[in-house]
Amino acid sequence: MKLSIGALKQETGLSEEVKISYPMADTEFRNEKLTFLGPVLFSGRIKNDGGDFAAAGQVVCDIEATCNRCLDPAKIHLDFLTEIYYSYNAEEKNEKTDEEYLPVDNDEIDLGEGLEREIYIHMPNQILCKEDCKGLCPVCGQNLNHGECRCDNLENTMNPKFQKLKDLKLK
Ligand SMILES: [Zn+2]
Ligand SMILES: [Zn+2]
Repeated sequence: MKLSIGALKQETGLSEEVKISYPMADTEFRNEKLTFLGPVLFSGRIKNDGGDFAAAGQVVCDIEATCNRCLDPAKIHLDFLTEIYYSYNAEEKNEKTDEEYLPVDNDEIDLGEGLEREIYIHMPNQILCKEDCKGLCPVCGQNLNHGECRCDNLENTMNPKFQKLKDLKLK
């Protein structure tokens, strides 16, 4: 989504309120598919900051991904504040400063590209369908959220030491 900053570039300090709902295409993240369950909402301001530009505001979106434990679909709700920087000299800025600048091309900034990057940064480290997801049985692969499987005793099958203890008791 390209936004013109032609009017803002006239003077340092000028800013403009922006409220957009951006339909983000499905994408891949850590080799997993991310599906956006609706547009990404951005509400904030774009400001001329000494000839560079900053888009600052709130990002809200809902994403469907795959639970890292049980492989069922997992819903992720993101809601965060962010600041995205743009510059006519993005390459040079990126070499000289710690901030990461995106380029301004033909007096336009690509807000979609900035939002996508910020969404990746704010994704949880572990994607879970629910906090106490029980995952899959390591033996038979049954999704343990949907019910117990018929594998004997999970601990016995996972840890041979327990098996030995059980044998001792039986003697
Ligand atoms: Zn799960
Ligand atoms: Zn099992």
